[in-house]
Amino acid sequence: MNILIFGPNGSGKGTQGAVVQKKYHFPHIESGAIFRKNIGAGTALGMQAKQYIDRGDLVPDAITIPMILDRLQEPDCKGGWLLDGFPRNPAQGEALDKALQAAGMALSCVIEIQLDREEAKLRIMGRRLCVNDNNHPNHIAFDAIKPVEKDGKLVCRVCGGELKTRADDQDEEAINKRHNIYYDPIEGTMAAVNYFKGKAGLKIVSVDGSPSIGAVSEAILAQLD
Ligand code: AMP
Repeated sequence: MNILIFGPNGSGKGTQGAVVQKKYHFPHIESGAIFRKNIGAGTALGMQAKQYIDRGDLVPDAITIPMILDRLQEPDCKGGWLLDGFPRNPAQGEALDKALQAAGMALSCVIEIQLDREEAKLRIMGRRLCVNDNNHPNHIAFDAIKPVEKDGKLVCRVCGGELKTRADDQDEEAINKRHNIYYDPIEGTMAAVNYFKGKAGLKIVSVDGSPSIGAVSEAILAQLD
């Protein structure tokens, strides 16, 4: 299965993506996580991307599109993939469409998590990243994924690893910019969402992201089966 997952920053997209990944065992490709890994490793790609990410701007398509299309060509993607954070605008959507056609790959399904903008903003500020594994969700406001305390410090609830916050998650201006991009139905991510939703024969799984994490997972998995 080749799946796209959409949702505004803070909608639980990464958390739900990890649930889907666990069920199907294919790679969970997150554009933002690839950038953060490169920034952490000090690569040229990371250094180029950092300035945009810190401001909440999109990294230019000339950098992002080849990075993702190359990733989809790697051998571990042969049995399917879950793509998260890409496409984020119509140009990326078209590039993905063309590349899939050229590679003889087809999309199996599009998952869309819907969430009100204010709620999404509140959620962003409470999330924590595990330094060991990006698929270990932690959030200080949700009991189901609350970090645990160890030696007076909050650590990852899955592996006990160190937790970090993202600089762009604590900066209200950067959050607003990211949401302006997501909710824009003309040039932003919603335009790409609507483009894929309009494709004949493509399975669309649209869920309300406001209930508990478990309830949202159930709604997604029930529709995927
Ligand atoms: P995310 O982890 O999905 O919130 O992404 C973090 C940041 O990485 C975004 O705010 C952008 O600066 C950058 N980024 C992630 N995905 C893309 C993309 N598809 N196109 C351009 N920039 C992206």
